[in-house]
Amino acid sequence: MTEFELIAQYFTRPAPAGTPLRLGIGDDCALLDVPAGDTLAISTDMLVEGRHFFEGSDPEALGHKALAVNLSDLAAMGATPLAFSLALALPAADANWLAGFARGLFGLADAHHLPLIGGDTTKGPLNICITIYGSLPAHAALRRDAARVGDEIWVSGTLGDARLALEALQGKRLLDRTLLRPASTRLHRPEPRVALGVALRGIAHAAVDVSDGLMGDLAHILERSGVGAVLDGDALPCGEALAAQDTALRRAYALNGGDDYELCFTAAPERAPAVQAAAHTAGVRVTRIGHIVATPGLEVTDGDGQPLAIGAQGFDHFT
Ligand code: ADP
Ligand code: MG
Repeated sequence: MTEFELIAQYFTRPAPAGTPLRLGIGDDCALLDVPAGDTLAISTDMLVEGRHFFEGSDPEALGHKALAVNLSDLAAMGATPLAFSLALALPAADANWLAGFARGLFGLADAHHLPLIGGDTTKGPLNICITIYGSLPAHAALRRDAARVGDEIWVSGTLGDARLALEALQGKRLLDRTLLRPASTRLHRPEPRVALGVALRGIAHAAVDVSDGLMGDLAHILERSGVGAVLDGDALPCGEALAAQDTALRRAYALNGGDDYELCFTAAPERAPAVQAAAHTAGVRVTRIGHIVATPGLEVTDGDGQPLAIGAQGFDHFT
């Protein structure tokens, strides 16, 4: 199989109806319309074998996750997805791997009516890099620097199960099979909160997606906004598997789990009903977990308001 046969067979498909694509795969560039008055939102995420996923990982899950992590970034900006491109380094043109990968990738792409508009293919250690393009009115973007003192802090869905699944699969922790299965789904097939991000336009102030752990990711909002936060360590929404663990672990992994791909966002207290309505529209639950304060730093308290000693340990590739 040549490079061009590979691209034609696995990655070239008619664009889903209604997509703003003028010219797709096969020319020097793709041509994409941006809705009038909107601004482009662009994000890139790379998945590297041995770093972000185990060698020999299920290619279908990889296809799904590679796109999901990019969609999650658009969601955290409140952008509507338009299209994506794919840069792929492959050790070999393995038909089984490619078919599985394409199935996972296009399964999620189709669910969001998202065309693949181009990319690059090269031989090398397995590396999957997706760039995603979305759009929104510039003033509606949910920027990290937009949190205000007095805002309530919210998080979508549940936290911590992806981390538990990872440790169970690495043999570092025992997890009952009935809990491991749904937790593994959280790890391998995250559902990006795209509809929630869009529904929160004009309601939320700041937002971030929780990929490296809630505390670490929320810290980005605090830093950029020049504010601090107090979180209620007992209000954190734990996943099913995490809910079955002891209090210390529940708090630790809800706060510093990683791979959750939920949205953490802030909104004025009087907007709470609008936040709940947006969550209802998007079909996802949201939980109020704390509030923004003027004093810099991130404090976590128990249900009685007593400070807990928990450090932010967001995942960092270089520490
Ligand atoms: P160039 O020589 O300009 O880099 P290529 O020969 O690499 O172009 O690619 C040919 C066409 O196939 C281009 O339109 C490119 O965007 C597309 N393409 C290459 N690899 C991929 C891929 N993995 N997925 C989708 N489109 C791809
Ligand atoms: Mg090329």
